[in-house]
Amino acid sequence: MEYTAATGRDPLNPQQLLELAMQRLRDGTLSCEQRARLFAGHGRQAGCSLCGAPIGAEEIEYEVEPASAVAAEQWLHFHRPCYYAWLQACSEQGAETG
Ligand SMILES: [Zn+2]
Repeated sequence: MEYTAATGRDPLNPQQLLELAMQRLRDGTLSCEQRARLFAGHGRQAGCSLCGAPIGAEEIEYEVEPASAVAAEQWLHFHRPCYYAWLQACSEQGAETG
């Protein structure tokens, strides 16, 4: 039996996702949202806010509504592993900067 990725892309491993998340926090592409609301559901092909890949209907999409958001365009969308990488990057960044 041979495994081939259904999506045709190589998912990043958790360590790579974490490094990507920390890089995006540093360059300001992503920010930490302490008081955000979280929703989970099936993907709707929105581009992931971390890895950039579309989130397919067969995957779980985590939607984060920042407290400051005034429009749906400001929501963040993550694959499940990307969401956890972002959370971890935020906690590690907090530990670094005090
Ligand atoms: Zn992703």
